[in-house]
Amino acid sequence: MAFEGLSEKLSLTFKKLRGQGRLSEEHVRTAMREVRLALLEADVSYKVVKDFISTVTEQCVGTDVLDSLTPAQQVIKIVNQELTNLMGGTNAKLATAPHPPTVVMMVGLQGAGKTTNGAKLAGYLRKTMQKRPLLVACDIYRPAAIEQLKVVGGQLDIPVFEMGQGDPVKTAQAAITHAKDHGNDLVILDTAGRLHIDETLMDELKRMKSTVKPHEILLVVDAMTGQDAVNAAGAFDEALGIDGVVLTKLDGDARGGAALSIRASTGKPVKFAGTGEKLDMIEPFHPERMASRILGMGDMLSLIEKAEEAFDEKNAAKLEEKIKKNAFTLEDYLDQLNQVKKMGGLGQLAGMLPGKMGQQMQGAEIDEKALAHTEAIILSMTPKERQNPQILQASRKRRIAAGCGLQVSEINKLLKQFDMIQQMTKQMGKMGKGGRMPSFGG
Ligand code: GDP
Repeated sequence: MAFEGLSEKLSLTFKKLRGQGRLSEEHVRTAMREVRLALLEADVSYKVVKDFISTVTEQCVGTDVLDSLTPAQQVIKIVNQELTNLMGGTNAKLATAPHPPTVVMMVGLQGAGKTTNGAKLAGYLRKTMQKRPLLVACDIYRPAAIEQLKVVGGQLDIPVFEMGQGDPVKTAQAAITHAKDHGNDLVILDTAGRLHIDETLMDELKRMKSTVKPHEILLVVDAMTGQDAVNAAGAFDEALGIDGVVLTKLDGDARGGAALSIRASTGKPVKFAGTGEKLDMIEPFHPERMASRILGMGDMLSLIEKAEEAFDEKNAAKLEEKIKKNAFTLEDYLDQLNQVKKMGGLGQLAGMLPGKMGQQMQGAEIDEKALAHTEAIILSMTPKERQNPQILQASRKRRIAAGCGLQVSEINKLLKQFDMIQQMTKQMGKMGKGGRMPSFGG
């Protein structure tokens, strides 16, 4: 999860600060020295750190903060606000064309995640904004690139336009005409990448830009490359002019330097973040939520959004009805587990929870495994057994254990757990309000 190291260090610093009662200017300066080190260790660029510390210090010692009743909280609030500002303040949205289609040009170095994140973006905008995207293969130098785009497009059931190894600018133009003819209101151009920025690549991208006139040029950079990502953003912006950044592999970046420096160093906002290899793992980049995550205050808003995405209202109503009637079965339990999975699993959710709760769940891989076991056990049961676990005698349990490759003891454990849940749902049924489900682990 991103920002782990930074988050831990800052939380230590602020804990010390909170323990002080009254704060002196010296306390603040000591704390800021620690924040400075933590940011540098997180690979935030030197100048960004320097400016950040001076702004925060000035606000903390120059106003009534130190005399307030809760000085430590005020300091944390200022750091939170300034971290948010550092990353651009609010979520920067994609441009929309006055007349469709909106044309988005994805650019970036090879391996940054251009192809996958172009497809992820198409999928995301189709889901959240009902767009009808067309993916376009303009990387004609790597023969596998066209194939790769077709594969990810196929997985998401999004059409892919290609003209083989022909001129990429002509391909882009033809794709836009095709989009107009076929009702696609969003065209995403997957352009060629190189291992390093070179003139030939930039010339081609500039030619595409001036001919196609995209509404949005998005640079894709790999968060795990830290300051190299920031440098790439600067270089691409200078040579081509970009509108925003997609920061990929945030899930693998424990430091967070790129996320914190890009906006301040280049003036260009991070608009989206890639958070995993799966094709639905992209999210809009919200500076204020990122700042809260870094400060261990959790990111409840993203969590709620994810829950809403995974939430199926019809299912929920059915479930509520069942709880009222005391008819909650193992099959419903399995449904619930699948909802947790759809929300990205426990590990993904952990980083969004505030404070201790989130930290405790960071090592939730074990729970993911338990979740998979639970699923395997339930799937090995007959529908009748799932509806009515009371009929599970020793011989049935042995058959199920053999079916899912687990021990009978694990089946007993699940049944005990399920029994507890049933007791709970009975209580809820009695209370007559089953709207809120208890949280189910594995
Ligand atoms: P391109 O050369 O820029 O088109 O890069 P690709 O789209 O081929 O991506 C390179 C690798 O990064 C692939 O293995 C992707 O699955 C992986 N990748 C892309 N985005 C993410 C992300 O957000 N998280 C993780 N963990 N991997 C990613």
